[in-house]
Amino acid sequence: MAFTRRTFLRQGIHFTTLLAASTLSASALGATRLAKVSGNPFYLGVASGDPRPDSVVIWTRLARETLGNTLSRNEPVAVDYEIAETASFATIYRKGNAAALPELGYSVHVDLQGLSPGKEYYYRWMIGGEVSTVGRTKTAPASDASPENFRFGFASCQQYEHGYFTALDHMANENFDLIVHLGDYIYEETWGAENVRHHNAPEIYTLDDYRARYELYKKDADLQAAHASAPWAVTWDDHEVDDNYANDIAVDEQTPEQLLIRRAAGYQAFYEFMPIRLPSGRQGSSMQIYRPLQFGTLMDMTILDTRQYRSDQACRDGMKTSCDQHRDLSRTLLGEAQKDWLFRRLRNSEATWNVMAQQVMMGRLLRRNEQNEEMYLMDIWDGYPGERDELLAGLKEAETPNPIVLTGDIHSNWVNNILSDFSQENSEIIATEFVGTSITSGGDGSDTTSTTAQTLSDNPHVKFYNRQRGYVSCKLSKDLWQSDYKVLDKVSEPGHPIRTRASFVVEAGNPGALEA
Ligand code: FE
Ligand code: CA
Repeated sequence: MAFTRRTFLRQGIHFTTLLAASTLSASALGATRLAKVSGNPFYLGVASGDPRPDSVVIWTRLARETLGNTLSRNEPVAVDYEIAETASFATIYRKGNAAALPELGYSVHVDLQGLSPGKEYYYRWMIGGEVSTVGRTKTAPASDASPENFRFGFASCQQYEHGYFTALDHMANENFDLIVHLGDYIYEETWGAENVRHHNAPEIYTLDDYRARYELYKKDADLQAAHASAPWAVTWDDHEVDDNYANDIAVDEQTPEQLLIRRAAGYQAFYEFMPIRLPSGRQGSSMQIYRPLQFGTLMDMTILDTRQYRSDQACRDGMKTSCDQHRDLSRTLLGEAQKDWLFRRLRNSEATWNVMAQQVMMGRLLRRNEQNEEMYLMDIWDGYPGERDELLAGLKEAETPNPIVLTGDIHSNWVNNILSDFSQENSEIIATEFVGTSITSGGDGSDTTSTTAQTLSDNPHVKFYNRQRGYVSCKLSKDLWQSDYKVLDKVSEPGHPIRTRASFVVEAGNPGALEA
């Protein structure tokens, strides 16, 4: 094998060695095998993700302080894993090992190959006599299969200081086929007056800072339970780097050069801590995470990235009246390459449900100022009206079957009919959007606010709006999609029960949400 430890040390971290780490065994990578470790090396939990019919990524990350002398020698460390078809591990289906690399902060990603489609597997990690908790995962259905009752949950926005991750523990109990996370998995900054827990540092900038922030979040038992319960499909939003950044433009006083260095740190930490395959286009401060996931003929999911390639927010960002920049239709949220890829996929898909898993609200959200002028949030699709029109026209022309948009970011629940022209209440419905609230961001929240009635009357394409915390549970067959909005009364105290606040369905072939 060409990839010896010496090659690593000489060449440092680059694409080939990273790829090798996820596919080659520990011995091929010259990793040190530890006879014992000091303490629990697996206290950040286990995870799996990006299921395909025949493969899934399993993940863990070793606690550095348990690794003894290998740490100071900067050596890769061998980790063993076992796969079973039942949680008891009565019969071991497969054993293997992998190298935890110091360059990746002792994270381990193994892309398990040769699995059977639509099947549950259990996995656990071992090193130096210590065994991790057991994770459950599930492969995607066979490419020609259409399961009767596919169930997944989606979530976003988990500001650690704003509350307890109780909603994630409830997700863990759902036994989902998949959990989708739409970003703001960590927060780089602190705000809020009634914080119930505290970050380990103020605003973060360096790779070490981001790693420490992910470690703080990953120690949360509710988050670990949700990861151990099902495979995840993750994307990022802004707070994995910097609030409302746009490509290389920071919200604070950083120059584009400084923001790109910070972005590279944030992106590397994201890869290290998430159960994803090595992004194919990783280069300097860029990392391609937009990607497809296919669930038989039932669902085609495109995981999008609306932060890395976007034009700067128009009119100096925020809730604003239109300005010249806003009317410049060449501005982009997706960037050319991602847009071409997405449009090609939507044009050619024959899946029953075509899901865009993305960050910012696509349905128009009109508000009016005291002079009765129209105002829009410049950070969401409303700030990029040219590209939204282009996407909706493309969906219509391609007759993409049943487009569904999944959205996070906005810390509130919405069900929106995506209209070909939002200014005409009776215009054609092109897609249905389900916007999920935050896990904790914004604190306890409330069902309605003083502006709810006005918001709904200004935006008749909005079928549901609520500002509590929770997640969305989706159940689909080839005839019907159902989204259940799950909410909690409080996140400022641990352990609150979850309940279904509202349920909406979409009938295949009939776009738009109907109250169930
Ligand atoms: Fe957020
Ligand atoms: Ca956000």
